[in-house]
Amino acid sequence: MLIRSYEITQAVLRAGRDMSSWFLRLEGPDATRGIRPFARKFEQTAAEFADADKGFPHDSGGGSGGAALPGRGAADPYPKIELHVHLEGTIRPEKLLDMARRNGVALPADNVEALSALYRYRDFGHFLEMWRTTTGTMRTEDDFRRAVLDYALEAKAHGVQYIEATFSPINRNKWDGIPYPAMFDGVTDGITAAAEHYGVTVRAMPSLIWGVDRDLAEECARWAVRYRDRGIVGLDAGGNELARGDVSEFDRAVALARDGGLGIVPHAGEAGGVRAIRDVLRWNPDGLQHGIAAAGDPALMAELVDRGTVLRVTPTSNVATRVVADISEHPLPRLREAGVRCSIGTDDPALFGTTLGQEYELAERLGISPASAYRAGVDGSLCDDTVRRQLREVGDSAFGPPHS
Ligand SMILES: [Zn+2]
Repeated sequence: MLIRSYEITQAVLRAGRDMSSWFLRLEGPDATRGIRPFARKFEQTAAEFADADKGFPHDSGGGSGGAALPGRGAADPYPKIELHVHLEGTIRPEKLLDMARRNGVALPADNVEALSALYRYRDFGHFLEMWRTTTGTMRTEDDFRRAVLDYALEAKAHGVQYIEATFSPINRNKWDGIPYPAMFDGVTDGITAAAEHYGVTVRAMPSLIWGVDRDLAEECARWAVRYRDRGIVGLDAGGNELARGDVSEFDRAVALARDGGLGIVPHAGEAGGVRAIRDVLRWNPDGLQHGIAAAGDPALMAELVDRGTVLRVTPTSNVATRVVADISEHPLPRLREAGVRCSIGTDDPALFGTTLGQEYELAERLGISPASAYRAGVDGSLCDDTVRRQLREVGDSAFGPPHS
């Protein structure tokens, strides 16, 4: 199989945080656990795909995250907000097969069952291989449009009202030659179609990649600003948090985004610990993707409370990447006790074998109620005032007035 350099670079940069934490952990006492967390998740995903025609069952009564509220039907899941999801990580096996056929890309399997089996990772190298396979299959404007639309439909089955999705265009442009307009037009057309077809409000933001040249970061920020009126609401930054270097390299890109009316929501405090969070506070961010490392620093948690910073927490992803050893040790309860507000997302639902309903259910077991997660999502989102008011009305209708 021909593996082109851009695919390797893309995978290493995007998944570098996973790799770093993974390898660090494997050297420690967790080494004997091997890849079981991945394997277990993907056994579940494969089982879901064996039943794909019936859709994802979690919210259809008694399933994960699907407990209906009083007065709501069993098939009427409570409303949810999702602020942390990577578009490239949402593509389920059957959609990946469709995309590969359209683009003439050869996948290592030619049917849903066999491809689903590959999502049960035998080791981390295998996971990286599947990440390369997914991202390398996205080639056209229509791929990006469909990815938005497909995920909007999937998340709608879990009650989603609003999605803020991230995508990573820099290396796709640099290494694959996909024009920026193709990616941004695809994503923003998907945003329009998701509202028209499914009534789901989607907004999006491109992500800078730690360590890329500042000129590339600024180019990406400029493109984001150009699409501000079409649903691009912010600028993210992510990748290998441990190799972020001097984040001031992105100061100019951040300033361009701010001047253009965009919000700033970087990844920080996942594998990179407390220092990564402190590094990005120089930008006065509007939120943090992950941010969970703050739980180890009471002063930092107090600062986040003072700032009103909402964290975008993804429980399953944190365990799968070994940032958290076990879900029972997840820092969500400590963050809640300190008053840090947390919204809940999936990160890469297809790659981590999860759904929005499942993540809300996990969060609830960790002390974050559906109403709390929803309201943190509304308050932490980058949407405009009109959308925020509508989302609040939906939340008040489902959960009752705040503090009641
Ligand atoms: Zn993420």
